[in-house]
Amino acid sequence: MDTTAKLALLADAAKYDVACTSSGIDRDARMGALGNATAAGICHSFSADGRCITLLKVLFTNVCVFDCAYCASRCSNDVPRTSFRPRELADLTMEFYRRNYIEGLFLSSGVLKSPDYTTERIIECLRILREEYGFRGYIHAKAVPGTSSDLLAALGLLADRISVNMELPSSESLALLCPNKTRDSIVAPMRQIREGIAEDRDTRALMRRDACYMAQRRPARKTRAFAPAGQSTQMIIGATPETDFQILNLSSSLYKTMHMKRVFFSAYLSVNEDGRLPQGNAVQLDREHRLYQADWLMRFYKFDAAELIDEGQPFLATDIDPKANWAINHLDRFPIEVNTAPYEELLRVPGIGVRGAKAIVGARRATALGEAELRKLGVAYKRARFFITCRGRYQGHGTRFDKESLHAQLAAPIQAGSHGRRSGKVLAGQMSLFDGIG
Ligand code: SF4
Repeated sequence: MDTTAKLALLADAAKYDVACTSSGIDRDARMGALGNATAAGICHSFSADGRCITLLKVLFTNVCVFDCAYCASRCSNDVPRTSFRPRELADLTMEFYRRNYIEGLFLSSGVLKSPDYTTERIIECLRILREEYGFRGYIHAKAVPGTSSDLLAALGLLADRISVNMELPSSESLALLCPNKTRDSIVAPMRQIREGIAEDRDTRALMRRDACYMAQRRPARKTRAFAPAGQSTQMIIGATPETDFQILNLSSSLYKTMHMKRVFFSAYLSVNEDGRLPQGNAVQLDREHRLYQADWLMRFYKFDAAELIDEGQPFLATDIDPKANWAINHLDRFPIEVNTAPYEELLRVPGIGVRGAKAIVGARRATALGEAELRKLGVAYKRARFFITCRGRYQGHGTRFDKESLHAQLAAPIQAGSHGRRSGKVLAGQMSLFDGIG
């Protein structure tokens, strides 16, 4: 199979991996080397259903000795198989980079022979890129569960971000659908990555302070940092019966204990006939979308999972976003006065984001804020007005201040497949690397 045919097959097989977004790492270009990376994000595009696709997003191989029930590349499927050679993929990446098609590489893989054999091939590819070709662009590599710790350590020194997929939200579901993976084989590499990142950061901090007693541990100058863009993971939603309550609590704990940069959710997409899987083709994109909103609230708005969801009502509402839902269930906390409320309280108002709350805190030092000023500051006034007063006057006049009336005002049903930035541009299913988005 020639390289173009391999690319078509392996890029298409990689579209189920959603765990790729911005790089989160700043690195300048350098004389004699090629490429740079910016924290603002590497070049990425979005699929029809809102998923982020980073170019070049590809599998190293779709040959796999594992048999995960939901996966198109599982060993029990009769599908065309192929693998890149390490240098072939490194060359392809460089060719794309030089032509400005891509700004980084997202590399996942099936399990070729064994986790270690696969990881050795991936490491060789990344080594060629980094050491022979001087590639300084962003690289996100997947770690295969079961990879030995020394290979994982080597991978972390070549990739910017590493991710180990959580796959499913509970050990029972993992045992049911991924017979070759165990919770330990997933959590152990996560722990190792977390510790590698922390140790690397500590060592470098001590070096910066010129701590002489660290001299024997001092990395040679220009040695790469260990996974400087951190680690992320991904869970499939809707293939197994776990609730949003379980999923959000698990992701909250992953942020806290594994210091994840991101936890990605992937609505289950039916590609195999298998009695262990849900019947029918319904893709729970609305659920995935609400989970991302809740995840955002936990990461940037200081919400705790317990504030967003409880065991008594274990699924997020689909007709109203989680922040608005929290607000209408805590009306005793509202309305708040925008000219005096603390930043943390402003963050809790539907329609006021992190940027808006910061802008309000800055602007109100100079003037008392009203509707016109809030609109100028970028606040979604139409939503926020039900929860605020400006100079003592309630802004939500015309609507009763009770749960039902506010719910009716704030409900925003998601149209499956067309939410977010692609609203109105509905394409069938997921895009492949070769589809247009226009
Ligand atoms: S390890 Fe599982 S999910 Fe990954 S390619 Fe193989 S069968 Fe698919």
